[in-house]
Amino acid sequence: MTRLSSSFFFTLREAPAEAVAVSHKLLLRAGYIRPLAGTAGLYAYGPLMQRVLQKVGRIVREEMDATGAQEALFCQLQPAEIWKESGRWTVYTQDGTMFTLKDGQGEQAREYGLGPTHEEAVCDFVRASLNSYKQLPFHLYQVQTKFRNEKRPRFGLMRGREFIMKDGYSFHATPESLDETYRAMYRAYTNMFRRCGLDFRAVEADSGAIGGSGSHEFMALCDIGEDTILYCDAAGYAANVEKAVSLVSDPEAIGSGSYAVKPTPGIRTVEQQAAMLGVPISRIVKNIVYVALYAEADPRPVLVSIRGDRHINETKLKNRLDCLDVRLATEVELAAWVGVKPGFVGPDAPIAGVIRLADRSVDGLTDFSTGCNQDDVQCVWANWGENGLVLPEVTDLDTAQAGDRCHLAPEAALQSARGVELGHIFKLGAKYSRPMQVLFADEAGELQPALMGCYGVGVSRLPAAVVEQSHDNDGILWPIAIAPYQLVLVPANVAVEAQRQAAEELYRTLSAAGIDTLLDDRPERAGVKFKDADLIGIPLRVTLGRDLEAGLVEIKVRGGGEAQKVPLAEALAQIK
Ligand code: ATP
Ligand code: MG
Ligand code: MG
Ligand code: MG
Repeated sequence: MTRLSSSFFFTLREAPAEAVAVSHKLLLRAGYIRPLAGTAGLYAYGPLMQRVLQKVGRIVREEMDATGAQEALFCQLQPAEIWKESGRWTVYTQDGTMFTLKDGQGEQAREYGLGPTHEEAVCDFVRASLNSYKQLPFHLYQVQTKFRNEKRPRFGLMRGREFIMKDGYSFHATPESLDETYRAMYRAYTNMFRRCGLDFRAVEADSGAIGGSGSHEFMALCDIGEDTILYCDAAGYAANVEKAVSLVSDPEAIGSGSYAVKPTPGIRTVEQQAAMLGVPISRIVKNIVYVALYAEADPRPVLVSIRGDRHINETKLKNRLDCLDVRLATEVELAAWVGVKPGFVGPDAPIAGVIRLADRSVDGLTDFSTGCNQDDVQCVWANWGENGLVLPEVTDLDTAQAGDRCHLAPEAALQSARGVELGHIFKLGAKYSRPMQVLFADEAGELQPALMGCYGVGVSRLPAAVVEQSHDNDGILWPIAIAPYQLVLVPANVAVEAQRQAAEELYRTLSAAGIDTLLDDRPERAGVKFKDADLIGIPLRVTLGRDLEAGLVEIKVRGGGEAQKVPLAEALAQIK
């Protein structure tokens, strides 16, 4: 229950010039947020914003609790030691993401970081009391302020240096158990963002600095999004551009179906490979495929071309081929990379792999700047055809772009859209639990690192994404589930006693019926109140004006059609 006459309430006619994004402008103009001392990325949440955040928080908590996750609260001020244990202190301090501080002067002073994310803190909490597989699985989450020294804090709540995140961390004894929770989180996130009225997509994503094996981002579609997603509705496929794959799409270059490569012993240069396929070098360089072939008479694989990370340029590629020249992989190595036994590969069997090189340090391949180990290998089987090796259509592992064919639905093309990351779920595996010794005894009594998942939602970013998607010329259009108030009650003229009294009475009735009601009892003109109500985006407006003499009130849906006049006695039923 809130009366505007006794509230600290302000709206601005114009948004400050530095605000570019619609959500930033509207949240400032409508008095939801204020920058602290004009500092980029630091915002105070006013009373209206706090109500929105609480509603978002409630939805997030309900969906998390429904999966069996438990809410906790971890420290924001984190000793450097735990970050050194996980190996992330250097990464996060060198790139400047983490705000660091000391608790004193001189050698004795201890170093701390303000939590940009909480894997370390949660691992430290759990390891002290985790003993047996019988305690697993469990999932702890928190809703809390995070600190990140973003290089480009902008768009208001979209990218703050202090912002609210829901972050959850699950612990498991088996990969199957992790998978199960991951799927449950995928569903929970889908529910959350739906309930908040967002237009979003779940996309396959890179795991980034957090690390781990599998990850999905939940992206709100909007033009100011800093991420690009590629999707194909026909195939139900969507991925962040960093992760997206496509079929090599130039039908003239590759042929519309499979294409054949004659297995010639020796290594082709990029130029030779381009000439052989009849495509420009740029195409080969762009679609760097690492195809290992066996010549019939030669047990050694012949490397035809190579596809690696997206940052590769022609010179790097040539260097890489030079590397390969001096170090041919053996059959055993190849077999290991593509995950089959030596001897299985050969002319009568599937014989080649398309090997994805990971951006990882060398493991199986020495002297090779970007090597791959078995975990990182992706392979596509090929067969001997009449003209030699027939590769399945080659997926473009790193350089997919809009217009490319989707690898899951042939004739369908990938489309691109801009997205804002609302949430991110990861399978971390033992990435943190191993270095931080979060161990449990398995059924055989052996100590194992717990397998982890982690799951984040940008709680304060989310309402900004909603505003991006849901506004008009007059202001914000909140979905009712997260609007600060569901209804604003406007006595058109509080100097008219009948209006004031009827408003007070209806206010009490609505509030008692559990409807979040804002009473605009300010001694302002009705037009001013309407403008403010539209700007702050309250979904329903009930006006008590002159028609009250005839026993009527006016109900208007924000962003909907004309106002309706209904008898005061029926107003509550209509509103419900
Ligand atoms: P981004 O790609 O936008 O920088 P991120 O991948 O660094 O986000 P995560 O580490 O995955 O973010 O954190 C989980 C969630 O926290 C994100 O999905 C996003 O919604 C939110 N988030 C991250 N950084 C910010 C920020 N600076 N301001 C507001 N919300 C943020
Ligand atoms: Mg980031
Ligand atoms: Mg991201
Ligand atoms: Mg992320």
